[in-house]
Amino acid sequence: HPDSIATLEKLRRCEPLSMRGMPPIVWDKAQDIYIFDKYGNKWLDWSSGVLVTNAGHAAPEICKAMIDQIQSGLIHNYVFPSEERAEAAEIIASVSPEGLKKVFLLSSGSEATECAIKLSRAHGIKVGGRSKIGIIGFTRGYHGRTLASQQAGGMAGLKAWIVNEDPAIMNAPFPDGYWTEDTSFDTFLKAIEDKGFTGDNIAGVIMESYQGVGPEFAPVEYIEKLRAWCDKYNVVLTFDEVQAGFGRTGKFWAFEHYGVTPDLICCGKGISSGMPLSAVIGREAIMDQFPPGSMTSTHTGNPVCCAAAVANIKKLLDEDLTGNAARLGPILLERCKAIQKRHPDVVGHVSSAGLVAGLQITLPGKKEPNHDLAHRIIEICYQRGLLLFAPVGAWGQTVKICPPLTVTEEALIEACDVLDGAVDDAVA
Ligand code: PMP
Repeated sequence: HPDSIATLEKLRRCEPLSMRGMPPIVWDKAQDIYIFDKYGNKWLDWSSGVLVTNAGHAAPEICKAMIDQIQSGLIHNYVFPSEERAEAAEIIASVSPEGLKKVFLLSSGSEATECAIKLSRAHGIKVGGRSKIGIIGFTRGYHGRTLASQQAGGMAGLKAWIVNEDPAIMNAPFPDGYWTEDTSFDTFLKAIEDKGFTGDNIAGVIMESYQGVGPEFAPVEYIEKLRAWCDKYNVVLTFDEVQAGFGRTGKFWAFEHYGVTPDLICCGKGISSGMPLSAVIGREAIMDQFPPGSMTSTHTGNPVCCAAAVANIKKLLDEDLTGNAARLGPILLERCKAIQKRHPDVVGHVSSAGLVAGLQITLPGKKEPNHDLAHRIIEICYQRGLLLFAPVGAWGQTVKICPPLTVTEEALIEACDVLDGAVDDAVA
């Protein structure tokens, strides 16, 4: 809207270039599955911010919990004990698998993955000596933008500016079956061997439960072998659930699709449906390695964020929003597959899990990323009232769909109709 130009210009003037790139819509209000600007425009939200508002934007119960907390007079208490942090840790532990009952609260997903890498290495050194510090992530993976998390991720563009790259942090090919065709566990073993490592000097493996660029899952058999290999060599296995957790895929945790339990879980985003909170959840032997006072952060377990998280998790459970994602997932996938069938030339691959889906947009007839077309599809969508974030993926080729889990079947179908038209018109 032309009246929003002043705000856009202010942002351009005062912020770094890296903050640009999203559709130029100035959010004024966000309510459940809708985004509003100040000028009478309304969008169906297919971003959930960035897979954050699983319980919908500004859910009344969550807002009330936050307002009550603010009015109680406690909005910050560093790591001094508080009831709010105790309640958040307890409810998060209650939704975590058997054996993973220690919860360390932080503020961002990157902090959680960075912490998991640190914990894995400390554990490695303890059980295997100074050389057991290797960390394996996966190609096209994403774990955040702090140094170790960025390097453990597999986006070439993000690694490019790291100086003093850590030679003990490396990637194995993510076995998605599309960009990496060989999905055997041998690809993992070979990647380590190529770097001169073995199980004896690897401390940890960190993997997104589904890879965000898709969503793509590894074959179950691969993950079972990975779990067995980690057990054999006393390697800490971390599943990064920052975007996959809290019901998104139709299971509360996405690793439940594998039937395998990690040693550490990193989560964030959907933990609070909007407030900056993240967590590392894990086994006591790994979580309790550092003495009192040595793993803190200024805003860890902020009471307002904790109050939001408790209300959010209760809402997810009470309304069975995970079940809603499981129920609507097949409808979304079918619609995406129908688009692929109409445009097999440029929609190279489609994948989904619950209420997250991705269209891999390719150059006509080739298995090569097509950022421009992905961008055009998204642009047409937001011009027609459907908001997606800018294309994601290793090459900016993925049109990613991730509505709040409160979406109704009717609203989902309405949005699918918009996407249909946008792809048809972008290709034409
Ligand atoms: N891991 C995954 C899988 C993510 O999707 C993200 C955020 N997109 C992160 C880690 C980093 O989280 P944050 O941006 O909160 O630091």
